[in-house]
Amino acid sequence: MKGTFLYLVAGLMLIGGGLVWLALFHGIQASSAKPLLDQKKSEAVSEPFSQNDSTVPSTPPSVYVPILMYHYIRDYQDRTDDPLGIQLSVSPKTLDKQLSVLKDAGYETISLEDFAKGKYKPKSLIITFDDGYDDHYTNALPILEKYQTTATFFIVSGFLGRTGYMTTPQVQQLRLAGMEIGGHTAIHLNLANAQYEKAIDEISTSVRSYDPVFSYPSGKYNPVTLDIVSGLGIKAAVTTNLGVATEKSSLYELPRIRVKEKTDLLKRINEEIAIAKRQLVPSQRSKD
Ligand SMILES: [Zn+2]
Repeated sequence: MKGTFLYLVAGLMLIGGGLVWLALFHGIQASSAKPLLDQKKSEAVSEPFSQNDSTVPSTPPSVYVPILMYHYIRDYQDRTDDPLGIQLSVSPKTLDKQLSVLKDAGYETISLEDFAKGKYKPKSLIITFDDGYDDHYTNALPILEKYQTTATFFIVSGFLGRTGYMTTPQVQQLRLAGMEIGGHTAIHLNLANAQYEKAIDEISTSVRSYDPVFSYPSGKYNPVTLDIVSGLGIKAAVTTNLGVATEKSSLYELPRIRVKEKTDLLKRINEEIAIAKRQLVPSQRSKD
């Protein structure tokens, strides 16, 4: 009789323990990415961006950091059969000239991770290259080295070694040259429509071997993506929203300036800084 009772108590304890474990496990899964983001959100909310509240004095940012966005570095302007390709291409000669102009204007490049840590220089600039094309190694790297400029390269990890893309050893060479390497998912996934588990897998896979910085493929993301990126310990992520970054920018929604072959770069940068001084947030502006 006593033995049966003990078995009953032990059984109930096992079931109870299992239920507690299940509740905890699911709770942890559902909230693992959240605490960091909630912290970021509250930081963002505390910034004086709220134009509706006239009692809050609005101070302009003190740091303006242009983040340039490049794709292909290649001679492509005569390829009239591919207008999109032209839009995404800057010739090596033009990149050389742009870096020369920026250097003469006193700009100094920093990494995204430094930006996230608040390590600014007097005139900081971040240069980014999306997608991991092989011309980043063959064409962009020698020019960057010529001007002793650093840059951030966002690699689509599943495309490494494909025709037109860098190989793993080439990415290692970029790294050895002092470049920052970040993730851009494994298959250039549209994160705005992606399943939760798939998004986590794609983002974490693409940053696993690299620096903790990320670029949303085609600039597409949603609030859950922001949760995931911050929850994975990524320090900064760039969008295709137009603007310059400031110390008030959300580190997971950093705006960039798209550079094209014919972009008058200093003029564009100064226009964007002037707009940032008026404190328009990137989401209120159209994409370039
Ligand atoms: Zn891309």
